[in-house]
Amino acid sequence: MFHDAIRTSGAHVTWPFVSLETLCLRCGLCCDGTLFTHVALTPDEEKRLQLGGVIRQPCPKLQADCRCSVYAQRPKGCAHFVCMLGRALESGEVGLDEATELVNELRALRQVIDTLVPGPGSAISRARQYEDRGPDSDVAVRVREARRALEALSARHFLGRH
Ligand code: SF4
Ligand code: SF4
Repeated sequence: MFHDAIRTSGAHVTWPFVSLETLCLRCGLCCDGTLFTHVALTPDEEKRLQLGGVIRQPCPKLQADCRCSVYAQRPKGCAHFVCMLGRALESGEVGLDEATELVNELRALRQVIDTLVPGPGSAISRARQYEDRGPDSDVAVRVREARRALEALSARHFLGRH
């Protein structure tokens, strides 16, 4: 999450790392409640960050510019995570433009859910709750379609689950 390669790698930065940082700073989907619902913390991380046992997403440490406000102290679970799309970018399997389009596509699906089911918490959790209890069945159908499309795109390009 937020691979700030330019600032952390010193002078010998290669193009793929710069691209990953660029992509992450256009994205933030692994911190804003689109890909995940929470990040588990170790007891030490819990003490350090004062956020309870887990970080519920959208993460309160995520800034509007897609940077992490606790980047140097971020949890191990965040520091070790690079999504499948980020890895594909690093290896040259996809270009920055194509990767950015996929990020925008996923964000657009999230925004459909945000519009239909506004509120706190991750988009997928809100969508599932509405599907279970939603008073308007037409809206529930649209929410289900957006949620399924979001999960399929996430699995295919970001999380590597098929
Ligand atoms: S989902 Fe991938 S590309 Fe987006 S911020 Fe996280 S690691 Fe970077
Ligand atoms: S602590 Fe930082 S890297 Fe981790 S989820 Fe929050 S904003 Fe993202």
